[in-house]
Amino acid sequence: MTAIAGNLQAIRARIDAARREAGLGSAVDLLAVAKTWPASAVREAAAAGQQAFGENYVQEGVEKVQALRDLALQWHFIGPLQSNKTRAVAEHFDWVHTIDRLRIAQRLSEQRPAALAPLQLCIQVNVSGEASKSGVSPEAVHELAHAVAALPRLRLRGLMCIPEATENAALLRSRFAQLRQLRDALNAEGLALDTLSMGMSHDFETAIAEGASMVRVGTAIFGGRPPKAESGKEAAVLP
Ligand SMILES: *Cc1c(COP(=O)(O)O)cnc(C)c1O
Repeated sequence: MTAIAGNLQAIRARIDAARREAGLGSAVDLLAVAKTWPASAVREAAAAGQQAFGENYVQEGVEKVQALRDLALQWHFIGPLQSNKTRAVAEHFDWVHTIDRLRIAQRLSEQRPAALAPLQLCIQVNVSGEASKSGVSPEAVHELAHAVAALPRLRLRGLMCIPEATENAALLRSRFAQLRQLRDALNAEGLALDTLSMGMSHDFETAIAEGASMVRVGTAIFGGRPPKAESGKEAAVLP
């Protein structure tokens, strides 16, 4: 067994244990975050049965989508998305997890090719309230969610968050709980959201305890990344 196959097997076992512990009847999907890793690493994970992959950078992601066309993979865009990059994402990805402005969703809706299935979306919520973090505020998510849900060629599936890095387990857990409560509130307002995209290598078990339906795991599958692309950080803007 390769290192990636062994890591995947271990993560799947931990997801399953956390899911049973939480008494979650529904499945928890594993998104393998492949940013900075070459197409060959994705191919190795795919050979070990992994189907869904996450990418943070548009150009890098599109290159991998194109290099791996021979495999039936599902591609999720999970990085910050600028409006001048929406077309490439609309044409190459299956999901986008980082919607925090109506304008971006409108462009994706206009640019999604008719031949493809609707683009699946999550709205990113800034649950920690840090000024530096992307995501819509918990107060503003209601209006945005209803507006996005009304757009054609898209399907709003749920909410996503990246809580602040903290050693405080209770605080972290409360952030995930808040995302679940927001999702439940939106469903009570008439939406039908089935996805909570939350939890990464260091905290996915806590996220599952609060009802995550999809965890996004990179380092624990592929290994450590070079420092420039650290987890959860925005892409650096060079001078
Ligand atoms: C990088 C990244 C991940 C994966 O982080 P790890 O700590 O490597 O598991 C998950 N979600 C987002 C949005 C990321 O940018």
